[in-house]
Amino acid sequence: MSQLDKIRQTMRRDRVFDFVAEQRYPFSSQRHTVIPGEIDVSHGTILYIESLNVSFDGFKAINDLTLYLNDGELRCIIGPNGAGKTTMMDVITGKTRPDNGTVYYGQTMDLTHMTEYEIAQAGIGRKFQKPTVFPNHTVFENLELAMHTDKRVWPSLIAQLSGEQKDKIDEVLHTIGLTDIVQSRAALLSHGQTQWLEIGMLLMQNPRLLLVDEPVAGMTHQETERTAELLTGLAGKHTVVVVEHDMDFVRSIASTVTVLHEGSVLAEGNMNEIQNDARVREVYLGE
Ligand code: ADP
Ligand code: MG
Repeated sequence: MSQLDKIRQTMRRDRVFDFVAEQRYPFSSQRHTVIPGEIDVSHGTILYIESLNVSFDGFKAINDLTLYLNDGELRCIIGPNGAGKTTMMDVITGKTRPDNGTVYYGQTMDLTHMTEYEIAQAGIGRKFQKPTVFPNHTVFENLELAMHTDKRVWPSLIAQLSGEQKDKIDEVLHTIGLTDIVQSRAALLSHGQTQWLEIGMLLMQNPRLLLVDEPVAGMTHQETERTAELLTGLAGKHTVVVVEHDMDFVRSIASTVTVLHEGSVLAEGNMNEIQNDARVREVYLGE
């Protein structure tokens, strides 16, 4: 057994959830009917990734990955380029199917047997690096449009926002800090503001689990700080997974950090533990 394998074993031994095995495995080959909002997090864990493998033409992008997320936590995922971070998000959101392994959302939903649409409906939202805001619409309109996933019914719905929907937009505007520029066209926003609007559009869909890939790439120092506040504020109400390269940013949001390397978990802990971990320094921080 290699040194790395030994480390992996000791790292994961405390995280074996027997109840998971008992309850879930008999169903894992079955197709589930998904009722959005119905998620069982009674054990405090919102996402279970176990023994996950994904390969591309024989190359193992995800290699026996086991990782758990606590309901409501803010988790940072770091790791060198090619570590498998984006592939992991692709599997969670149903974009990529694994070779084998399990990915459960709560105790009952097997994400590897759900479509991308069903996964989104079940409350998993993803923010990509490239913004998908509508540049010719205002901040308000963008949030309004994000409420409705069926684009064909936009014109009719916009005319009749309920009080509840208006409250939701106000709440999200406050969260993303764009209340003062609600009538600005999205095209006129700064890079940071555009990213926050994008997060706001995701929030309009009430995601329970939010996946965010490199949120502060290209941001100014101030924008980065504001984004740290924003994401920290979302934790608790949402479970937030942040993939990020910017170490200062990761340190500033002070959450549990998982280091991926060659498709599996190399280390997990708070930023101090991660920074003082010799293996992490070797493969990542010292590179
Ligand atoms: P990260 O996001 O951590 O930088 P990725 O998940 O994007 O890493 O990639 C992991 C590895 O898998 C890389 O070596 C990448 O080249 C490879 N890879 C990812 N997606 C594909 C794909 N669709 N086809 C072939 N190889 C891929
Ligand atoms: Mg990536």
